[in-house]
Amino acid sequence: MQITSNRLLACALTLVVVGGIVAVSRPASGKQDDKQTAPSPPPKNPNVKVLFSGKEDELKTHFVRRGTETPGHWKIVDGAMVVSGGDITTKEIFGDCQMHIEFRPPNMPNAKGQGKGNSGIGIQGRYEVQVLDSYGIETPGKGDAGSVYNQSAPLVNASKPPREWQSYDITFRAARFADGKRTEKARITVIQNGICVQNNTEINGPTGIGGEPENKPERMVFQDHGNPVEYRNIWVLPLPEKGSDKY
Ligand code: MG
Repeated sequence: MQITSNRLLACALTLVVVGGIVAVSRPASGKQDDKQTAPSPPPKNPNVKVLFSGKEDELKTHFVRRGTETPGHWKIVDGAMVVSGGDITTKEIFGDCQMHIEFRPPNMPNAKGQGKGNSGIGIQGRYEVQVLDSYGIETPGKGDAGSVYNQSAPLVNASKPPREWQSYDITFRAARFADGKRTEKARITVIQNGICVQNNTEINGPTGIGGEPENKPERMVFQDHGNPVEYRNIWVLPLPEKGSDKY
């Protein structure tokens, strides 16, 4: 009998190492909904800033209602921030950085397009990495998950089904300016669920989420587009504009 890859996956997912470190199981129903995966821990680096690890006070310490200094107002449910009642931003401003975000679109089977699990992360407050339920779309476009919104479609569709936790690992290089003129565009690499969806992509300018002009660091925006997307495990590692010349 042929052992299919699905069968192997099912075996792997039901593996339980009794008395050991790892216990992996799948809901008995086998349903795709509500699958839980553990958040991946941030790297042990003294410069990593953990913005949200599931604690309510982190929302108030590290985030504000967009455009105000009022503490972040999203709901916290089971250790996740749930989009509600308007955008939030980080309190801190960021330029070049590496960033990790985990997100989970809701299951909205009757919704379509931009109305289906829409949110987004506004890097430097101006370049939106789209969050959307784009699962199963054969050729994702400039509005789908993993896109730089309205500018660059993801290279491939790396989206998981709704209600599954997903991750973005983003490396961002801010635009460069000399004498007030832009000399280099911003660039971004996005790894979605371990798959490269933006490969050092040049960004032509702000994507519509806000934040013009481009010549200074800004707060990160987390968008409320009317859908209860969840976020967890958010950290940022600020990066220097370049390394040393030392040999
Ligand atoms: Mg969006």
